Amino acid sequence: METITTLAGLRLALAKARKAGRRVGFVPTMGYLHEGHLALVEASRAQSDATVVSIFVNPTQFGPNEDLSTYPRDFLRDERLCRDGGVSIVFAPDPREVYPGGFETFVEPGELSKPLCGAFRPGHFRGVATVVCKLLNMVQPDAVFLGQKDFQQCAVVRRMATDLNFPVEIITVPTVREPDGLAMSSRNRYLNDEQRQRALCISRALFAADAKFRAGEREVDVLVAIARRHLDQVDPLHYVELVDADTLKPAASPLSHPAALCVAAHVGGTRLIDNVVLNPEADAPAPSKTVPELHWLDDRVQDTLTCDRMSMPSS
Ligand code: AMP
Repeated sequence: METITTLAGLRLALAKARKAGRRVGFVPTMGYLHEGHLALVEASRAQSDATVVSIFVNPTQFGPNEDLSTYPRDFLRDERLCRDGGVSIVFAPDPREVYPGGFETFVEPGELSKPLCGAFRPGHFRGVATVVCKLLNMVQPDAVFLGQKDFQQCAVVRRMATDLNFPVEIITVPTVREPDGLAMSSRNRYLNDEQRQRALCISRALFAADAKFRAGEREVDVLVAIARRHLDQVDPLHYVELVDADTLKPAASPLSHPAALCVAAHVGGTRLIDNVVLNPEADAPAPSKTVPELHWLDDRVQDTLTCDRMSMPSS
Protein backbone atom coordinates (compact mmCIF):
# COMPACT_ATOMS: atom_id res chain seq x y z
CA MET A 1 0.00 0.00 0.00
CA GLU A 2 1.18 3.51 -0.82
CA THR A 3 0.35 6.64 1.17
CA ILE A 4 0.30 9.69 -1.07
CA THR A 5 -0.18 13.31 -0.04
CA THR A 6 0.22 15.21 -3.32
CA LEU A 7 -1.91 15.33 -6.43
CA ALA A 8 1.19 14.85 -8.62
CA GLY A 9 2.08 11.68 -6.69
CA LEU A 10 -1.47 10.39 -6.97
CA ARG A 11 -1.59 10.97 -10.73
CA LEU A 12 1.68 9.13 -11.18
CA ALA A 13 0.58 6.11 -9.13
CA LEU A 14 -2.81 5.95 -10.85
CA ALA A 15 -1.33 6.30 -14.33
CA LYS A 16 0.56 3.07 -13.67
CA ALA A 17 -2.61 1.31 -12.49
CA ARG A 18 -4.56 2.50 -15.53
CA LYS A 19 -1.83 1.54 -17.95
CA ALA A 20 -2.04 -1.95 -16.54
CA GLY A 21 -5.79 -1.84 -17.30
CA ARG A 22 -6.79 -1.97 -13.66
CA ARG A 23 -10.31 -0.92 -12.59
CA VAL A 24 -10.05 1.71 -9.87
CA GLY A 25 -12.52 1.91 -6.97
CA PHE A 26 -12.63 4.98 -4.77
CA VAL A 27 -13.78 5.45 -1.16
CA PRO A 28 -13.82 9.09 -0.01
CA THR A 29 -13.66 9.52 3.79
CA MET A 30 -12.82 12.03 6.48
CA GLY A 31 -10.77 9.43 8.34
CA TYR A 32 -11.08 8.08 11.88
CA LEU A 33 -12.10 4.90 10.14
CA HIS A 34 -14.54 2.33 11.47
CA GLU A 35 -16.24 -0.78 10.15
CA GLY A 36 -18.66 1.34 8.10
CA HIS A 37 -15.76 2.75 6.10
CA LEU A 38 -14.22 -0.70 5.86
CA ALA A 39 -17.45 -2.08 4.37
CA LEU A 40 -17.03 0.45 1.57
CA VAL A 41 -13.44 -0.71 1.11
CA GLU A 42 -14.59 -4.32 1.01
CA ALA A 43 -17.26 -3.48 -1.59
CA SER A 44 -14.68 -1.65 -3.66
CA ARG A 45 -12.18 -4.49 -3.44
CA ALA A 46 -14.83 -6.94 -4.57
CA GLN A 47 -15.49 -4.87 -7.70
CA SER A 48 -12.16 -3.22 -8.49
CA ASP A 49 -8.53 -4.14 -9.07
CA ALA A 50 -7.20 -1.21 -7.05
CA THR A 51 -8.89 0.70 -4.23
CA VAL A 52 -8.07 4.30 -3.36
CA VAL A 53 -9.19 5.66 0.03
CA SER A 54 -9.00 9.40 0.56
CA ILE A 55 -8.64 10.74 4.09
CA PHE A 56 -9.45 14.41 4.13
CA VAL A 57 -11.39 16.43 6.69
CA ASN A 58 -13.02 18.81 4.26
CA PRO A 59 -13.21 22.33 5.75
CA THR A 60 -15.80 23.61 3.25
CA GLN A 61 -18.53 21.26 4.49
CA PHE A 62 -18.33 22.45 8.10
CA GLY A 63 -20.30 25.46 9.34
CA PRO A 64 -18.61 28.14 11.46
CA ASN A 65 -19.96 26.66 14.73
CA GLU A 66 -19.38 23.02 13.80
CA ASP A 67 -16.68 20.54 14.85
CA LEU A 68 -13.98 21.02 12.17
CA SER A 69 -11.18 21.67 14.69
CA THR A 70 -12.18 18.81 17.02
CA TYR A 71 -13.14 16.26 14.37
CA PRO A 72 -11.50 12.99 15.51
CA ARG A 73 -8.25 12.10 13.73
CA ASP A 74 -5.83 9.19 14.04
CA PHE A 75 -3.90 8.92 10.82
CA LEU A 76 -1.57 6.08 11.82
CA ARG A 77 -4.49 3.91 12.89
CA ASP A 78 -6.35 4.75 9.66
CA GLU A 79 -3.29 3.78 7.64
CA ARG A 80 -3.02 0.45 9.45
CA LEU A 81 -6.73 -0.31 8.93
CA CYS A 82 -6.38 0.50 5.23
CA ARG A 83 -3.30 -1.70 4.89
CA ASP A 84 -5.06 -4.58 6.68
CA GLY A 85 -8.17 -3.98 4.57
CA GLY A 86 -6.30 -4.42 1.28
CA VAL A 87 -6.35 -0.78 0.15
CA SER A 88 -3.91 0.04 -2.65
CA ILE A 89 -3.51 3.79 -2.14
CA VAL A 90 -4.29 6.10 0.77
CA PHE A 91 -4.61 9.65 -0.52
CA ALA A 92 -4.24 12.10 2.36
CA PRO A 93 -3.78 15.57 0.89
CA ASP A 94 -3.06 18.73 2.83
CA PRO A 95 -5.96 21.23 2.73
CA ARG A 96 -3.71 23.56 0.68
CA GLU A 97 -3.35 20.85 -1.96
CA VAL A 98 -7.14 20.62 -2.28
CA TYR A 99 -7.90 24.32 -1.82
CA PRO A 100 -4.91 26.27 -3.14
CA GLY A 101 -4.69 30.04 -2.55
CA GLY A 102 -7.24 31.94 -4.63
CA PHE A 103 -9.71 29.05 -4.69
CA GLU A 104 -13.19 30.39 -5.48
CA THR A 105 -15.07 27.88 -7.60
CA PHE A 106 -17.77 25.76 -5.96
CA VAL A 107 -20.32 23.18 -7.06
CA GLU A 108 -23.80 24.38 -6.13
CA PRO A 109 -26.22 21.48 -5.66
CA GLY A 110 -29.93 22.13 -6.20
CA GLU A 111 -33.19 20.99 -4.65
CA LEU A 112 -31.83 17.74 -3.20
CA SER A 113 -29.53 19.73 -0.95
CA LYS A 114 -32.30 21.86 0.59
CA PRO A 115 -34.43 19.65 2.88
CA LEU A 116 -33.31 17.48 5.85
CA CYS A 117 -29.70 18.28 6.79
CA GLY A 118 -29.55 21.04 4.20
CA ALA A 119 -32.08 23.04 6.21
CA PHE A 120 -29.96 22.80 9.37
CA ARG A 121 -26.46 23.00 7.87
CA PRO A 122 -26.41 25.85 5.34
CA GLY A 123 -23.64 25.37 2.80
CA HIS A 124 -22.88 21.81 3.93
CA PHE A 125 -23.83 20.08 0.69
CA ARG A 126 -22.15 22.79 -1.37
CA GLY A 127 -18.95 21.83 0.44
CA VAL A 128 -19.65 18.11 0.00
CA ALA A 129 -20.45 18.41 -3.71
CA THR A 130 -17.38 20.57 -4.28
CA VAL A 131 -14.94 18.25 -2.55
CA VAL A 132 -16.41 15.10 -4.10
CA CYS A 133 -16.24 16.75 -7.52
CA LYS A 134 -12.59 17.67 -6.92
CA LEU A 135 -11.70 14.23 -5.57
CA LEU A 136 -13.41 12.53 -8.53
CA ASN A 137 -11.35 14.71 -10.87
CA MET A 138 -8.18 13.85 -8.98
CA VAL A 139 -8.72 10.08 -8.69
CA GLN A 140 -10.82 9.56 -11.85
CA PRO A 141 -12.13 6.26 -10.53
CA ASP A 142 -14.30 3.78 -12.37
CA ALA A 143 -16.57 3.48 -9.32
CA VAL A 144 -17.10 5.43 -6.11
CA PHE A 145 -18.47 3.80 -2.97
CA LEU A 146 -20.71 5.75 -0.57
CA GLY A 147 -22.55 4.78 2.61
CA GLN A 148 -26.33 4.71 2.84
CA LYS A 149 -25.95 6.21 6.31
CA ASP A 150 -25.46 9.58 4.61
CA PHE A 151 -28.59 9.16 2.52
CA GLN A 152 -28.91 12.78 1.38
CA GLN A 153 -25.20 12.93 0.57
CA CYS A 154 -25.63 9.91 -1.72
CA ALA A 155 -28.56 11.62 -3.47
CA VAL A 156 -26.65 14.90 -3.93
CA VAL A 157 -23.51 13.18 -5.24
CA ARG A 158 -25.47 10.93 -7.58
CA ARG A 159 -27.28 13.97 -9.02
CA MET A 160 -24.02 15.91 -9.36
CA ALA A 161 -22.32 13.01 -11.16
CA THR A 162 -25.22 12.79 -13.61
CA ASP A 163 -25.55 16.55 -14.11
CA LEU A 164 -21.81 17.11 -14.61
CA ASN A 165 -21.25 13.96 -16.71
CA PHE A 166 -18.80 12.15 -14.48
CA PRO A 167 -18.02 8.80 -16.10
CA VAL A 168 -18.23 7.02 -12.76
CA GLU A 169 -20.43 4.33 -11.31
CA ILE A 170 -21.89 5.29 -7.93
CA ILE A 171 -22.44 2.43 -5.54
CA THR A 172 -24.33 2.78 -2.26
CA VAL A 173 -23.33 0.42 0.56
CA PRO A 174 -25.75 -0.47 3.39
CA THR A 175 -25.26 1.15 6.81
CA VAL A 176 -23.03 -0.77 9.20
CA ARG A 177 -24.24 -0.80 12.80
CA GLU A 178 -22.92 -1.61 16.23
CA PRO A 179 -24.34 -4.87 17.65
CA ASP A 180 -26.97 -2.85 19.57
CA GLY A 181 -28.13 -1.02 16.43
CA LEU A 182 -26.32 2.34 16.67
CA ALA A 183 -25.13 3.37 13.21
CA MET A 184 -21.34 3.52 13.16
CA SER A 185 -19.96 7.04 12.89
CA SER A 186 -16.66 8.74 13.59
CA ARG A 187 -18.67 11.16 15.76
CA ASN A 188 -19.79 8.34 18.11
CA ARG A 189 -16.37 8.90 19.62
CA TYR A 190 -17.70 12.11 21.22
CA LEU A 191 -20.37 10.21 23.21
CA ASN A 192 -19.83 9.27 26.86
CA ASP A 193 -21.47 6.08 28.18
CA GLU A 194 -24.68 7.77 29.21
CA GLN A 195 -24.99 9.62 25.89
CA ARG A 196 -24.16 6.43 23.99
CA GLN A 197 -27.13 4.74 25.68
CA ARG A 198 -29.42 7.65 24.87
CA ALA A 199 -28.25 7.68 21.24
CA LEU A 200 -29.71 4.19 20.83
CA CYS A 201 -33.22 5.64 20.71
CA ILE A 202 -32.45 6.81 17.15
CA SER A 203 -31.96 3.36 15.67
CA ARG A 204 -34.78 2.03 17.87
CA ALA A 205 -37.10 4.65 16.41
CA LEU A 206 -36.16 3.64 12.87
CA PHE A 207 -36.46 -0.09 13.54
CA ALA A 208 -39.85 0.38 15.22
CA ALA A 209 -41.20 2.25 12.19
CA ASP A 210 -39.60 -0.28 9.86
CA ALA A 211 -41.25 -3.15 11.76
CA LYS A 212 -44.65 -1.48 11.48
CA PHE A 213 -44.02 -0.88 7.78
CA ARG A 214 -43.15 -4.54 7.27
CA ALA A 215 -46.33 -5.45 9.08
CA GLY A 216 -48.24 -3.54 6.38
CA GLU A 217 -48.54 0.05 7.63
CA ARG A 218 -48.30 2.54 4.73
CA GLU A 219 -49.61 5.78 6.26
CA VAL A 220 -46.78 8.33 6.43
CA ASP A 221 -48.09 10.10 9.56
CA VAL A 222 -48.46 6.83 11.44
CA LEU A 223 -44.95 5.66 10.57
CA VAL A 224 -43.39 9.00 11.51
CA ALA A 225 -45.37 9.10 14.77
CA ILE A 226 -44.07 5.65 15.72
CA ALA A 227 -40.50 6.79 15.17
CA ARG A 228 -41.05 10.09 16.99
CA ARG A 229 -42.39 8.29 20.04
CA HIS A 230 -38.94 6.71 20.57
CA LEU A 231 -37.00 9.95 20.12
CA ASP A 232 -37.44 11.28 23.63
CA GLN A 233 -33.79 10.88 24.61
CA VAL A 234 -32.36 13.34 22.07
CA ASP A 235 -32.08 17.10 22.45
CA PRO A 236 -32.73 18.74 20.14
CA LEU A 237 -34.37 16.58 17.51
CA HIS A 238 -33.58 18.30 14.21
CA TYR A 239 -35.94 16.23 12.11
CA VAL A 240 -37.67 12.91 11.68
CA GLU A 241 -39.04 12.80 8.15
CA LEU A 242 -40.24 10.25 5.66
CA VAL A 243 -39.13 11.39 2.21
CA ASP A 244 -39.32 10.02 -1.31
CA ALA A 245 -36.05 8.11 -1.84
CA ASP A 246 -35.39 9.74 -5.21
CA THR A 247 -36.56 13.35 -4.77
CA LEU A 248 -36.18 13.74 -0.96
CA LYS A 249 -39.51 15.56 -0.98
CA PRO A 250 -42.11 14.56 1.66
CA ALA A 251 -43.33 11.06 0.83
CA ALA A 252 -46.91 10.79 -0.41
CA SER A 253 -49.26 8.82 1.82
CA PRO A 254 -50.02 5.95 1.59
CA LEU A 255 -46.50 4.94 0.59
CA SER A 256 -46.29 3.47 -2.89
CA HIS A 257 -42.68 4.33 -3.81
CA PRO A 258 -39.40 3.68 -1.98
CA ALA A 259 -39.01 6.20 0.82
CA ALA A 260 -36.35 6.99 3.39
CA LEU A 261 -37.18 7.59 7.02
CA CYS A 262 -34.45 10.01 8.10
CA VAL A 263 -33.49 11.29 11.54
CA ALA A 264 -31.00 13.91 12.67
CA ALA A 265 -30.63 14.74 16.34
CA HIS A 266 -28.22 15.96 18.93
CA VAL A 267 -27.24 13.81 21.87
CA GLY A 268 -25.18 15.74 24.41
CA GLY A 269 -23.92 18.18 21.78
CA THR A 270 -23.09 15.51 19.18
CA ARG A 271 -25.10 15.61 15.98
CA LEU A 272 -26.06 12.14 14.75
CA ILE A 273 -27.94 11.05 11.62
CA ASP A 274 -29.47 7.75 10.60
CA ASN A 275 -32.11 6.39 8.22
CA VAL A 276 -33.92 3.31 6.97
CA VAL A 277 -35.34 2.78 3.52
CA LEU A 278 -38.95 1.60 3.36
CA ASN A 279 -39.69 0.03 0.01
CA PRO A 280 -43.29 -0.87 -0.79
CA GLU A 281 -42.03 -2.31 -4.07
CA ALA A 282 -39.69 -4.74 -2.32
CA ASP A 283 -41.48 -7.76 -3.75
CA ALA A 284 -41.63 -6.22 -7.20
CA PRO A 285 -38.95 -7.01 -9.81
CA ALA A 286 -35.50 -5.39 -9.53
CA PRO A 287 -35.60 -1.90 -7.94
CA SER A 288 -34.32 1.02 -10.03
CA LYS A 289 -30.61 1.73 -9.89
CA THR A 290 -31.13 4.96 -8.00
CA VAL A 291 -32.71 3.13 -5.09
CA PRO A 292 -30.13 2.32 -2.43
CA GLU A 293 -29.56 -1.19 -1.16
CA LEU A 294 -32.73 -2.31 0.53
CA HIS A 295 -31.92 -5.57 2.23
CA TRP A 296 -29.46 -4.05 4.61
CA LEU A 297 -30.42 -5.50 7.97
CA ASP A 298 -27.86 -7.93 9.29
CA ASP A 299 -28.85 -10.75 11.65
CA ARG A 300 -28.05 -8.81 14.81
CA VAL A 301 -30.23 -5.93 13.75
CA GLN A 302 -32.95 -8.34 12.73
CA ASP A 303 -32.91 -9.58 16.33
CA THR A 304 -33.40 -6.03 17.59
CA LEU A 305 -36.17 -5.62 15.08
CA THR A 306 -37.88 -8.75 16.33
CA CYS A 307 -37.75 -7.33 19.88
CA ASP A 308 -39.26 -4.09 18.63
CA ARG A 309 -41.96 -5.99 16.84
CA MET A 310 -42.87 -7.87 19.96
CA SER A 311 -43.17 -4.68 21.99
CA MET A 312 -44.93 -2.74 19.27
CA PRO A 313 -48.22 -1.16 20.35
CA SER A 314 -51.09 -2.28 18.15
CA SER A 315 -51.99 1.18 16.76
P1 AMP B 1 -17.17 10.11 6.61
O1 AMP B 1 -15.76 9.71 6.91
O2 AMP B 1 -18.06 10.13 7.82
O3 AMP B 1 -17.27 11.33 5.76
O4 AMP B 1 -17.77 8.94 5.72
C1 AMP B 1 -17.12 8.49 4.56
C2 AMP B 1 -18.02 7.50 3.86
O5 AMP B 1 -18.30 6.42 4.75
C3 AMP B 1 -19.37 8.10 3.45
O6 AMP B 1 -19.73 7.58 2.18
C4 AMP B 1 -20.29 7.59 4.53
O7 AMP B 1 -21.63 7.48 4.12
C5 AMP B 1 -19.70 6.22 4.80
N1 AMP B 1 -20.10 5.75 6.13
C6 AMP B 1 -19.99 6.40 7.30
N2 AMP B 1 -20.53 5.67 8.29
C7 AMP B 1 -21.01 4.54 7.73
C8 AMP B 1 -21.69 3.37 8.23
N3 AMP B 1 -22.00 3.23 9.50
N4 AMP B 1 -22.00 2.40 7.35
C9 AMP B 1 -21.71 2.52 6.03
N5 AMP B 1 -21.05 3.58 5.50
C10 AMP B 1 -20.72 4.58 6.34
